[in-house]
Amino acid sequence: MKNPLQELVSVSQYFGRDKSFVLAGGGNTSYKTEDRMWIKASGISLASIKADGFVFLSRDRLKAISTKKYSDQALAREHEVKMDLNAAILDNSTLRPSVETSLHNAIGYRFVVHTHPTIVNAMLCSVKAKEQCLSLFGEKALFIPYTDPGYILFKKVEAEINNFEKKWGEIPKVIFLENHGVFVGADSVEEIHLIYTNLIQKIENNFVDQMPSLQTIFLNKDVLKVVINSHRGFEGLIAMGFKSDLVDLFVSDKKSFEKVEKSFTPDDIVYCKAYYLFVQKIELLKESVEEYHRSYGYLPKVIALKNIGVFSIEENEKSARTVWEVFENILKISFYSENFGGPHFLNERQIAFIDNWEVENYRREMNKV
Ligand SMILES: [Zn+2]
Repeated sequence: MKNPLQELVSVSQYFGRDKSFVLAGGGNTSYKTEDRMWIKASGISLASIKADGFVFLSRDRLKAISTKKYSDQALAREHEVKMDLNAAILDNSTLRPSVETSLHNAIGYRFVVHTHPTIVNAMLCSVKAKEQCLSLFGEKALFIPYTDPGYILFKKVEAEINNFEKKWGEIPKVIFLENHGVFVGADSVEEIHLIYTNLIQKIENNFVDQMPSLQTIFLNKDVLKVVINSHRGFEGLIAMGFKSDLVDLFVSDKKSFEKVEKSFTPDDIVYCKAYYLFVQKIELLKESVEEYHRSYGYLPKVIALKNIGVFSIEENEKSARTVWEVFENILKISFYSENFGGPHFLNERQIAFIDNWEVENYRREMNKV
C-alpha cells in the first residue's frame, strides 16, 4: 500500500513546482483520515515541502470551530480562530496550520489540493466568472462568489457544501472561488490530477487569441536608476525592469493599462500591493510616485512606464523578482479574461479588508520577535 503522507508530499511538490499553478508560496494541500488531518504549514512552500512541513490536527477540534461563536469584529475574530486552530494541533510542532485549514476540513475527501492556476483564474477573475463556470462545468462544480478570506469564507463554503450535499448526496470535488482559485478534493491523488487536467483543458478550449510572446528583456541600468531616483527620500530600494510582447500590449497607453491596474486576488495584494501605477513619460515619474504615496500611504511596487516597460520596486532582488512574477501573472490573467467578458478586479472594500488583515498579521509577527 502506498503511504498517503508520501503521496501528499509528492502531489504538493508537483503542483508547487509548476508556476502556472502557484506562485510565491501560494496554495495549500492536505490529507485526512476519519479523525485526523495533515495540512501544509503556513509559510512553507509547496515546491520544496517534506513530510515535516505539514501540521497534524484533530478533526474533532477543528469541527468545534464551525459552531463556536466568535467576535463580530473581523480582526478579533480572526485572532480567536487562529488560537483555536493552534489548539487543534496534535503533535508538538511549532509550525502553524494554513489559514485555510477549516476549509480543507469541510471538504470530506482524503486529499485536497488548493491552487491558483493562471488558466482557471482567467475565468474566475473575469466579468462572466459565474456563468462560465456553470456553462463549462455544470452544477456539480461549486462556484463561490468573492468572499473575504478567513473565517467568513470558511462559513460560506461550508454552508454551500452542505446545500450541495443535500441536493446531490455527495460533496463537491471542485470548488471555484471567485477572484481567488480552486479547491480540488478526491479520495486518490490520481483523481486529483485527472480533475485538474480536465479543468485546465476545458477552460483553455475557450481561448481564442494566442498569448503574445513572454520572452522577456531586462531593462538597462540607466532607466532603473531614473526609477530609483524618482523615489528620493526612500532609501534601500532596488528596481528591476521588464519588457516583452505581453508587457507592450498593456503599456502602450493609459486605456490598455486600465486592464491591469488593480489586483485580481488576495495574493496579488500580498506581493504587489493592490494598485499599479501607470506613468505617461519618464519626466513625470517622480511626481507620480509622490502622488501615489500621498493617496495610498505606501510606495508602488509596480510601475509601468508608457511604451518602455514594467518595473518592480522592492527592498532586494529576490522580492523584486517575486513582484514581477506575480504581476506578469496578472497580465496573463487579464489577457485570457478577454475570452470571458474581460477582467474583473477586487473592489475597494475587498482590497481594504486584505490590507488591514495583512497589517495586523505583520504586526503580530513583529511582536513575536
Ligand atoms: Zn488560496
